[in-house]
Amino acid sequence: MNWYTSVLFLIGCASLVELWQKLQLHPWSPLLIMFLFSLILSFFPIRLPRGKAIGNEYSTGNVGFIFLLLYFGIGASLAALWADTLILNIRHAHSKSQKISWFRLFSTMGMYNVCALADAALIKNFPHLPLWLMSALLLFIFDALNLLMLLGVRDSVGEKVSMQTYLNSWQFMIYPMFICAVVLTTILKPYHDPLHLILDCIYSFLILFSIIYLTRQHAKATTMYQTIASKQQIITDHTRDLITIVDPKRDVTYASPSHLTLLGRSPKHIEGQSLDGVIHKDDVAQVKSAIHSALYNHAEFTLPVRFVHEDGRPILTEIKGSSVTGEDGDVRHVVMVARDLSERVEVDEMLRRSDRLAVVGQLAAGVAHEIRNPLTSVKGFLKIIAKNPADLARFLPILWAEFNQIETVINEFLVWSKPQFGQYMNEDIVSLVGNAVAMLEPHAKFCNVEIRILPTEYIPPVYCNANHIKQVFVNVLKNAIESMPHGGLVDIDIELEEKCVIVRITDEGCGIDEENLKRIGDPFFTTKSDGTGLGMVVSFKIISDHGGTIRLTSDGVQGTTVEIRLPLETSQQIQLVETSAL
Ligand code: ADP
Ligand code: MG
Repeated sequence: MNWYTSVLFLIGCASLVELWQKLQLHPWSPLLIMFLFSLILSFFPIRLPRGKAIGNEYSTGNVGFIFLLLYFGIGASLAALWADTLILNIRHAHSKSQKISWFRLFSTMGMYNVCALADAALIKNFPHLPLWLMSALLLFIFDALNLLMLLGVRDSVGEKVSMQTYLNSWQFMIYPMFICAVVLTTILKPYHDPLHLILDCIYSFLILFSIIYLTRQHAKATTMYQTIASKQQIITDHTRDLITIVDPKRDVTYASPSHLTLLGRSPKHIEGQSLDGVIHKDDVAQVKSAIHSALYNHAEFTLPVRFVHEDGRPILTEIKGSSVTGEDGDVRHVVMVARDLSERVEVDEMLRRSDRLAVVGQLAAGVAHEIRNPLTSVKGFLKIIAKNPADLARFLPILWAEFNQIETVINEFLVWSKPQFGQYMNEDIVSLVGNAVAMLEPHAKFCNVEIRILPTEYIPPVYCNANHIKQVFVNVLKNAIESMPHGGLVDIDIELEEKCVIVRITDEGCGIDEENLKRIGDPFFTTKSDGTGLGMVVSFKIISDHGGTIRLTSDGVQGTTVEIRLPLETSQQIQLVETSAL
């Protein structure tokens, strides 16, 4: 309660007196019909879209109030307004389980009284205005004043309101007001014959009701759309993935805000431009062809693609794209979601490195053993030569051979422990297997294990990263050796099948039971006290990067076969991931 609402309250009280004086002058039956008509309409407000406006409903009951005012005078109109406000207040109090606020009721009526008085003044001073203009003006004045006073009430209780709020509210109200004015002038006539009036009311009600229905559906749809749009907004605003929509000309029509964080480029600068500008020049061609097939064959695609950061850095991503068709079946857009792979590639690389280090550590014993033998013999010969230098010539070839042996072992070891910036090239798988075996030979001998490479037909070169593939063979062979603590035999069978090379490594070790077989490839799964549980994880990853597969079979009692399949035709994609990851 404040001075503003108190004044409205007093005006509301005065309206009761006015009502009593004026009502007695009129014929009752048409007045009652219109009275009821207004009340019924009040229950069916037109729903306006939720905006930055006051309220989101427009009461069609206003048609009735204005009609009463126009033909039966202010008393009739006030009576209907009173009844309407009372009912609304009772409903409001009921739905919130509160008592009716009489103060509120009277101050609301105060507002209506001011509006109705202004309208009455218009009728009195300009009695000859054409009906259409008069009814339109009455409605406009009524609503404009009502809205203004409502803002006043809000302002008086400390709510922030601005002229903009007022204008927004108006903007929403103009359209339903216009419809009400049309109904008022074209349908409702001041009959004194109740039947005619009832029919008119029904027509008006039907027209208004269809509009009410439409506006409600519209408001519902708008709200639903806004909810969905705001959810989508949340997703696109907060995702780290790059979401891009391109049109058939490959111009970007939408770029998510993540472009700023990931690429340092503002979406505003990307939208409207060709996508080619943000993609690494070597990848443009394949993106073009993928978008082309999405557009014309509705094909979905997944591609490793490098975007270019504002500072020139390439950012490796995986793009998933699909086409969006319109109702006519034509492709309108291609939506692409690109995920930053740099982190994943780093983790993969870290895994590889740590596994490599583990291998280095475990191999050290074998290597030391292998070096010690030639060293001992070199030392022995040197002792002899020291006593009798003439023997040097005789022992030189042996010394030479022993040094060569040491050098080979050390070289292999060094190659292994160095960071491996491998490249994809056509490689001979048989010699890669040979290298891996040579490398493990000392370790195998130490463990009393014999490794045999079975004779094989001609195997065409495989497009692969030699160091990585060698690492897989070493990992698998090491597992085979470790499965036979008392020694045994490892057979390597290399075979050519249609479009792929198969390397089968079979041991006679402890085997793997069914339960553990499922877990191989899980990071850190190991059954060894000094195991890392990374060897197979890394091997799986490397082989799948090459488009191949690894399969382990074992009866769980004795022996395991690891089958590695590598495709002969390796797609360009693999090379791309690999080169950009390094
Ligand atoms: P690690 O060798 O460090 O344990 P791996 O990933 O290389 O890790 O191997 C995981 C597990 O798979 C091993 O601990 C072992 O139980 C099992 N495994 C792999 N290869 C063989 C094999 N040839 N024979 C028996 N078990 C094997
Ligand atoms: Mg291992």
